[in-house]
Amino acid sequence: MTGAPALTGTHREIQALAREFAEGEIAPHAGDWNRDHHVPVDLVRRMGALGLLGITVPEAYGGAGLDYTALCVVMEEIARADAGVSVAVAVQNGLAQQPILHHGSEAQKAEWLPLLAAGELLGAYALTEPDAGSDAAALRTRAEAEGDGGWRISGAKMWITNGGFADVFVVFARTGAGSRGISAFVTRTGPGLVVGKDIPKLGLHTSSTVELTFDGMRVGPEAMLGAPGEGLRVALATLDGGRITIAAQACGIARAALELAVEYAGQRTAFGGPIARFQGVQFPIADVAARLDAARLLTLHAAALRDAGRPHTVEGAKAKLVASRVAVDAADMCVQVLGGYGYSAEFPAERLYRDAKITEIYEGTSEIQRVVIARGLLGDAARG
Ligand SMILES: Cc1cc2nc3c(=O)[nH]c(=O)nc-3n(C[C@H](O)[C@H](O)[C@H](O)COP(=O)(O)OP(=O)(O)OC[C@H]3O[C@@H](n4cnc5c(N)ncnc54)[C@H](O)[C@@H]3O)c2cc1C
Repeated sequence: MTGAPALTGTHREIQALAREFAEGEIAPHAGDWNRDHHVPVDLVRRMGALGLLGITVPEAYGGAGLDYTALCVVMEEIARADAGVSVAVAVQNGLAQQPILHHGSEAQKAEWLPLLAAGELLGAYALTEPDAGSDAAALRTRAEAEGDGGWRISGAKMWITNGGFADVFVVFARTGAGSRGISAFVTRTGPGLVVGKDIPKLGLHTSSTVELTFDGMRVGPEAMLGAPGEGLRVALATLDGGRITIAAQACGIARAALELAVEYAGQRTAFGGPIARFQGVQFPIADVAARLDAARLLTLHAAALRDAGRPHTVEGAKAKLVASRVAVDAADMCVQVLGGYGYSAEFPAERLYRDAKITEIYEGTSEIQRVVIARGLLGDAARG
């Protein structure tokens, strides 16, 4: 590891902007929104005006023209206030925009990026299927060629974040056999796309997660992203970056848990004084604080590599593997330090506990991150 660079003045500025927005507009409502399963779509759209929905989009396409490091510092601030809102930000800036930015034609960039960066259109990324998650190459959704060069897409997609309100979908479908027979498309919602109801889940109650049914949806020839058969490469390259944003999300959840535990430990009294004087309370807090700093460094290191145009697949996997575990452990520690109040809905500890777990699952489970890291070390020998 060559070390994460110090944040620049520009990073500090967007960090302060995101923090102010998160503390003023998200945190005060996060408890109620999660209890009511309210997805604050209007709030997400409003973030476009602040430049938070097109962070890495070049200014020429209406974005903020910043880098992945900037996206990561924003992610941590938003996730600290509410994990569900932060994943909408991650998908908009990451999974929906990056494939267009890095694999789209000039016409596709001009068509989609300004509207996505402004929040006038919200995006989703549809790779996973009911029977193909970790094994993305096993996807079965088909895109049948039409005589005029267009395509007709049929199949089911599962667990699609932002799916309930997205205007634009990046979707992966089979145009041939094998892993080289998958292609990527970008399309608006329209006839032939049936959006399911939000799927009830353990946490992330402010995030829309739906099943999509493509029922012979017709898209024009201009919808294909990249070359035919390049879809899996587009999908995996996008996830290489997406994982770094989820690592940043995990840091935000861990930080919220740490801050709450510290505050509570200083105020709660037992046996004649604050519980903060007990080593049994101090040590778990100290462990999380040290591991959170390590996780953030890994995250910023991976982001810096991406910003420098250098390989970051393994580093992103390491960041997500470590940060997601820190988030889960930090939330567990927080519930424990708060005792009975930690288990109650009165404090956000129980929400952090439920939200943290997802960071070990989406954009590649922790097992898949280990597979990626091991392959980086062992090469072909790891493939058997
Ligand atoms: C809330 C939420 C939001 C999501 N958002 C999106 C989205 O916006 N777009 C999208 O496309 N997808 C999304 N997903 C899907 C998510 O990325 C997948 O759930 C994830 O990749 C795991 O796939 P799976 O659920 O099919 O589990 P499976 O692949 O069936 O895995 C089941 C278990 O087997 C393990 N396993 C599988 N293969 C291996 C292996 N080779 N070695 C060791 N262990 C292995 C896994 O680690 C896991 O523990 C979302 C999921 C959730 C829950």
